[in-house]
Amino acid sequence: MGQLKANNKEVVHEDAKEEGNIVVINTCGFIGDAKEESINTILHFVDKKEQGKVDKVFVTGCLSERYKTDLEKEIPNVDQYFGTHDLPLLLKALKADYKHELVGERLLTTPRHFAYLKIAEGCDRPCSFCAIPLMRGKHKSTPIEELVVEATKLASKGVKELILIAQDLTYYGFDIYKKRALADLLNELVKVDGIEWIRLHYAYPTGFPEDVLDVMAASPKVCNYIDIPLQHINDEILQSMRRGNSHQKTNELIQKFRDKVPGIAIRTTLIVGYPNETEAQFEELKQWVRDSRFDRLGVFAYSHEEDTHAATLEDNVSDEVKKQRVSEIMEIQSQISFELNQEKIGKTFTCLVDRKEGNYFYARTEFDSPDVDNEVLIDATKYYVQIGHFVEVLITEASEYDLIGEPIKNKE
Ligand code: SF4
Repeated sequence: MGQLKANNKEVVHEDAKEEGNIVVINTCGFIGDAKEESINTILHFVDKKEQGKVDKVFVTGCLSERYKTDLEKEIPNVDQYFGTHDLPLLLKALKADYKHELVGERLLTTPRHFAYLKIAEGCDRPCSFCAIPLMRGKHKSTPIEELVVEATKLASKGVKELILIAQDLTYYGFDIYKKRALADLLNELVKVDGIEWIRLHYAYPTGFPEDVLDVMAASPKVCNYIDIPLQHINDEILQSMRRGNSHQKTNELIQKFRDKVPGIAIRTTLIVGYPNETEAQFEELKQWVRDSRFDRLGVFAYSHEEDTHAATLEDNVSDEVKKQRVSEIMEIQSQISFELNQEKIGKTFTCLVDRKEGNYFYARTEFDSPDVDNEVLIDATKYYVQIGHFVEVLITEASEYDLIGEPIKNKE
């Protein structure tokens, strides 16, 4: 989008009117639900094209990387499909030049005070269930200097919170520096003026670089927050998933997080209904969720993906049982989340105000990432807080997934 803007093109993200001369759909091909959503979106806009409301439809991203030939056959009314490495071709089709010097130039689709910073692309792990390496290729880290330039540009535009993402954050640097270098990157990013929060998403448990925890504990800018998909806890399932991890090692790692960074918020995601998951293995997972008391937790029903190693196994847990297992885990977690949130009543947190909607301002603590975690609601009929600014908030009420609070004073 930054490249298009530099070519004087008008670009709108998720246009509410859904009209314009060219629509570019960036697809996801990760699991069944994501593929379905992508296909429905393509069909929706092909329909708009047939009604004469848009001139052209281009499709890019992971789904078209993975299934280009099938899609060309099944939905031929799309003008052109592009893979994940075809940005220059896509720009050419949009009558714009690809300019290498503009790498890192972005048109943000997030509110101006936070931005995602992609620090690496691709993945070298062998997780049996995962199609991502088939679509995104081998792990490729962006050098520290380039990321610092990008972060500095973002900060100059008003970004205060950087959300670091990659398929595998903790592998960062291995390909270009021959060592895990996430801690080195963090040590450089904290020096960027204007960046106040740095948040880490998608860490991998095996070989977790512990120096990251030291930086997190020492630097107030690195949020005491980690998103680490753990997928399962039963040893046999973990082995079949090829995660290089075990029940015991996982617990030791969680304990290390909590010892080194007291008060750290841990977010994880799990998969239920993996091939051959027995009732007993699922019970072990449930008990572990009860015992671990994660701050945030999401659950996916296993999706059988062709060309993955797990696709050689039988997808033998029924959809109904998968659904039931998802809801059993979420029920346990919602009680934990409620209890953890209740403990916050009467405490004060520094919050970043994201937006105003209806009668409330919506803010977040350092323990909450946008879209996926808790929000702190502030009554806009009684208080005024500035969007994009930090404010101290006293928590007065709490439910499972939201907090309500009163601003004490603006921090800035
Ligand atoms: S680490 Fe994540 S992206 Fe990489 S193969 Fe495993 S699940 Fe997929």
